[in-house]
Amino acid sequence: SLVMGIESSCDETGVGIVRGTELLTNTVSSSMAEHVRFGGVIPEIASRAHLEAFVPAVRAALAEADVTLEQIDAIAVTSGPGLAGALMVGVAAAKALAVATGKPLYAINHLVAHVGVGLLDGTDELPDHLGALLVSGGHTEILAVHDIVGDVRLLGATIDDAAGEAYDKVARLLGLAYPGGPAIDAAAKEGDPEAFRFPRGLTAGKYMGSADNPGPHRYDLSFSGLKTAVARVVEAFEAAGTPVPVADVAASFQESVVDVISRKTVLACTEHGITTLLMGGGVAANSRLRELVTARCAEHGIRVVVPPLSLCTDNGAMVAALGSRLVSSGVAPTGLSFTADPGLPVTTVSVPAGT
Ligand code: ATP
Ligand code: MG
Ligand code: FE
Repeated sequence: SLVMGIESSCDETGVGIVRGTELLTNTVSSSMAEHVRFGGVIPEIASRAHLEAFVPAVRAALAEADVTLEQIDAIAVTSGPGLAGALMVGVAAAKALAVATGKPLYAINHLVAHVGVGLLDGTDELPDHLGALLVSGGHTEILAVHDIVGDVRLLGATIDDAAGEAYDKVARLLGLAYPGGPAIDAAAKEGDPEAFRFPRGLTAGKYMGSADNPGPHRYDLSFSGLKTAVARVVEAFEAAGTPVPVADVAASFQESVVDVISRKTVLACTEHGITTLLMGGGVAANSRLRELVTARCAEHGIRVVVPPLSLCTDNGAMVAALGSRLVSSGVAPTGLSFTADPGLPVTTVSVPAGT
């Protein structure tokens, strides 16, 4: 079936259209340029930008996919998590489209969509023993995906900052541009990842325990200590009046992040019989993370599915992709009475009918 996905949880206004598991179009416009000077997304600006961008984005997506609104079988929209005001614009727009066209509407989870987009591969089969690594601006989670349309379980998560948040904060410390992920990714390519030995959060024995007797944070992650360690190093250079070796600090910081994420992910996968790992979220665009997770998973016979770069950060295609899975699995549409939920938990794949 033909499904339109609408995304507005942060600064991207995304409209994507899929046919089954085939991507037809992915239209994304972002208000990021308006947030850069504030060093973070300003909710009011993002909401207004969504309002302005929505109708042109729908028109562009339909034109690119060469379909009409009437031909669309179902509409899916991100109902959470995300910025309340930003989500509300997309939800209101999707409801209006659904009412005007009489199409079924699915309210779906942005985080599950981030990893579910990996299943947009043109084939209908779902791999068995699925897991997911979600690494984004607001979330960092290791998931067991028993059923992508209804049974997603949390194995581990960050106990403080999300991976993307850590990238953004460290980039600021290093005087790199916001958003920091791509800037650090690029700077790190020129640096030595072993120049500084930064801490690996929650990897000490007391947190890890053993497979038989797991510690309290065996699969959990923490990046705030790492960020503080980077700040101390930067301060020391500044106090000494010597230039901060930005590339070396960036590379060493990145190595700590990707080392811990990949180690804990492999551990969670092997101990839960996971043999295919979906990777998603903005930080899944990171070149070193893709490389190390793939290499370490390969050592344990785990296949990694990484979305193309354009589908890692927020977009409408991922929403359409998950919506399409819901339709083909016979999940009932949500209807029209739901509201945006900024704190929607990752275990709620889609909002149940009549909510
Ligand atoms: P969430 O999905 O948790 O609600 P979000 O939607 O704001 O958060 P995404 O759009 O998935 O987050 O990802 C944005 C984040 O990804 C930012 O923190 C950005 O710095 C980071 N990011 C983007 N590209 C890269 C990269 N190449 N390396 C590392 N981080 C990156
Ligand atoms: Mg964004
Ligand atoms: Fe996101």
